[in-house]
Amino acid sequence: MNLCGYYPESINEGEGLRASIFISGCRHRCKGCFSPVTWNFNYGEPFTLQRQNEIIGDIARNPLLSGISLLGGDPFFSAAEVSEFLDRLYAQAGAVNTWIYTGYTYEELTADPLAAEYALLRRCHVLVDGRFEEALRDTSLRYCGSSNQRLINIPASLASGKVELWEPTVRF
Ligand code: SF4
Repeated sequence: MNLCGYYPESINEGEGLRASIFISGCRHRCKGCFSPVTWNFNYGEPFTLQRQNEIIGDIARNPLLSGISLLGGDPFFSAAEVSEFLDRLYAQAGAVNTWIYTGYTYEELTADPLAAEYALLRRCHVLVDGRFEEALRDTSLRYCGSSNQRLINIPASLASGKVELWEPTVRF
């Protein structure tokens, strides 16, 4: 698994100040993708255990963070490895609020409860789902690029068995 970007503090990829971690590799190939170079699983730097621990240390030491965001590429194409990273993060940094971005839909990710993708979903809190649709591009949207994409409250959705949208806790 490779890392194609890392921002220790960002306000663009979710509510509040978040550490944003970009995982290389994506096969959705959305027309108008913001960063086609990240489709390549070999792009960027190897996300070694040492690099993971450096980032976990950053997160654990930063009391200003609201949480982390996982993007790509699409982290669900490396679902098992990303789950291992999250387990390591939660064990060392405690209860970290995790947003995750994907080109898959919530329905696709929950189709098989035994799949690695479902296991990764369960470890996260907010899902920004769906492929980027160029015809539905809307720059006024917060935290996503096209109007088909949804911000989903994962624990509430898994508990109720239907999609429950995430509600902002901060309003402007
Ligand atoms: S899911 Fe994201 S990274 Fe993948 S092709 Fe679509 S916009 Fe690009």
